[in-house]
Amino acid sequence: MRAGHPWLFASSIREVNREGRAGDPAVIFDRKNRFLAAGLWDPEGPIRVRILVTGKPAPIGAELFRRLVADAVTLRRPLLDDPATTGVRILYGESDGFSGVVADLYGEHLVVKIYSPAWIPRLPELAEALEAELAPRSILLLAARRVAQEPAVVLGEFPADETLPFVEAGLHYEAHPIQGHKTGFYLDQRDNRARLGQLTGPRVLNVFSYTGGFSLAAAAGGATEVTSLDVSEAALAQADRHFELNAHLPAVAATRHHTLRGDAFEAMEGLARSGTRFDTVVVDPPSFAKEARQAAGALDQYGRLTRLALRVLAPGGLLLQASCSSRVSAEDLFLRIHQVARDAGRPLEEVDRTGHPLDHPVRIPENAYLKALLARAP
Ligand code: SAH
Repeated sequence: MRAGHPWLFASSIREVNREGRAGDPAVIFDRKNRFLAAGLWDPEGPIRVRILVTGKPAPIGAELFRRLVADAVTLRRPLLDDPATTGVRILYGESDGFSGVVADLYGEHLVVKIYSPAWIPRLPELAEALEAELAPRSILLLAARRVAQEPAVVLGEFPADETLPFVEAGLHYEAHPIQGHKTGFYLDQRDNRARLGQLTGPRVLNVFSYTGGFSLAAAAGGATEVTSLDVSEAALAQADRHFELNAHLPAVAATRHHTLRGDAFEAMEGLARSGTRFDTVVVDPPSFAKEARQAAGALDQYGRLTRLALRVLAPGGLLLQASCSSRVSAEDLFLRIHQVARDAGRPLEEVDRTGHPLDHPVRIPENAYLKALLARAP
């Protein structure tokens, strides 16, 4: 904590002078009774205190939040100043000094997601800070599963159709915060989508496509035939909708978009058997390791996916394989992908390794989760 880590685990607390309620300010002293840090109390969380202040004491409240939000906005200025991109993560938890909070801007609407009930009593001050900096038309509150909190509108008017339109690199997308994953869209893949747009071949398979972010980026980049593969019917319907929304763009209009519903492993096996080949394969699965002890199993899954992807990838084709498991390191992932490719007799030639985009800064190791390898297979 002295080095600035913003989590105080319940297991490392020696003594509490009185029980607090969720969101009460908690002041932490060391063994010699010197001030260490201050944060928000979470009576049931394994992370018992979400630390917001270290070094010297300072009040937790509107002023601190305003300063932190202003810093976060400054960091993202290059993105916020680009009119072709209006989907931007404004707060990325600990990395922006807001342990347990993320906030994503979709056009003129903000979606805030909290991962600790400690933030509930602090919402008015947080909303005020966000409003002062960004003047959004609405702020929708979402909460992680362990926080007993239904989606709630904390500012302005959230659209009745629960859809937030935004653009990225000039492409039109829709986020569905209430029905969708995360806050409604995977903003974290923005740079990888752009990279795919530059590198894509004509026939593309997008595995774990969700709402087709990579599919659309490939289409805009010149792909002529794109297959979105996912187990979720709703996600595939939204992927089709994303193509419709961009049909005014000649490159997108010229692309045939197919949706394939099913289990990724089985469907890729089926495609391989039927001799279907693609020039580009994107594999961006959900997290396979929620806990450290699942990391080895997750690596095996990534390896299986690499093997399957190579079976449907044409010679000279491009593989984009990503992982969002924070428990699996980039080094281990890339090693495994290369190993599997070598074993398959198709040693990969790396094009790029990517990590976090500007609006998902990494200030503590636990916040690093995203990595991707772009490589060509002989
Ligand atoms: N690549 C996406 C994000 C992927 S999220 C993007 O850039 O937006 C993970 C997706 O995997 C979800 O849409 C989920 O429905 C899908 N999924 C999870 N398990 C699956 C499986 N076994 N087979 C196919 N799809 C699966």
